[in-house]
Amino acid sequence: MPISDEDLRNAVTGAHARHKDDPGGKNADYIPYLASVPSHLCGVALATTGGQVFKAGDADYQFAIESISKVFTLALAMEAHGPDALREKIGAAATGMPFNSVMAIELHQGKPLSPLVNAGAIAAASLVPGDTADAMWANILDCQSRFAGRRIALSDAVNTSEQTTNFHNRGIAWLLYSYGRCFSDPMRACDVYTRQCSTLVSAVDLAVMGATLANGGVNPLTKERVIQAANVPHILADMVMEGLYTGSGRWAYTVGLPGKSGVGGGVMAVAPGILAIAAFSPPLDDAGNSVRAQAAVADVARTLGYNLFAPAA
Ligand code: GLU
Repeated sequence: MPISDEDLRNAVTGAHARHKDDPGGKNADYIPYLASVPSHLCGVALATTGGQVFKAGDADYQFAIESISKVFTLALAMEAHGPDALREKIGAAATGMPFNSVMAIELHQGKPLSPLVNAGAIAAASLVPGDTADAMWANILDCQSRFAGRRIALSDAVNTSEQTTNFHNRGIAWLLYSYGRCFSDPMRACDVYTRQCSTLVSAVDLAVMGATLANGGVNPLTKERVIQAANVPHILADMVMEGLYTGSGRWAYTVGLPGKSGVGGGVMAVAPGILAIAAFSPPLDDAGNSVRAQAAVADVARTLGYNLFAPAA
């Protein structure tokens, strides 16, 4: 039976109601700003490739995009260099390690394996066109904005909080550079990467950004082609392999949609050709994924019967 607007609306409001008070998890605190975001917030949103948007709870609350930005910088680097170069320079595999692992870099002689862990994302940022940090940053912000269909902005508060505490990521950038796997000045790449994590988005924004991927690279609201359709499957494959870090296997096994999380509490999942689901709530599990946002996104996908590996469901 075709899915009606009512079904979509009910799936979103139902998932929000069922999971907004789920216990467990804890705000990220290694970035001071994130520790201060109210833990009770919870929003759920869905955007279709036809441009419909449904939302519930705190779906308009703007929070730090964090690692979900890695998807869009990957898209930008892939547009500039092509999927083969990205796979050769960064890799396209699962690391099986935490998002900021140094050991994962050492185990593979500097190759990050995935553009969706910190090392691979810093390498991807280093591949963004631009002669200066500001030129690269302008391209990244423009890319995030075109995916969202509105002007996305940097949060000075988040950026300052991250830039003054990102010593581990600076170490990763220098390590990559020592192996020839950082393709611009490493501190410039780390600076730009840190800024890309510090923009503010809502669950609605993330749903539209995901729906742009679901729609083959065309933003369903603005109708603008943001990236080539041919690059979308590579990006979604990277999301399946590493989008939820060490939770990626469990997510693929139980939910079956390409997803990406961020330590700001966001989770975005894509049902190719159909829609994207996003949710936000700050408390994270041990892998760095939002407890409630994962549960809410999984609930919507299950209710609507969308699983990439069970297309007839
Ligand atoms: N800016 C964060 C970091 O580099 C992003 C991590 C994440 O969201 O997983 O540590």
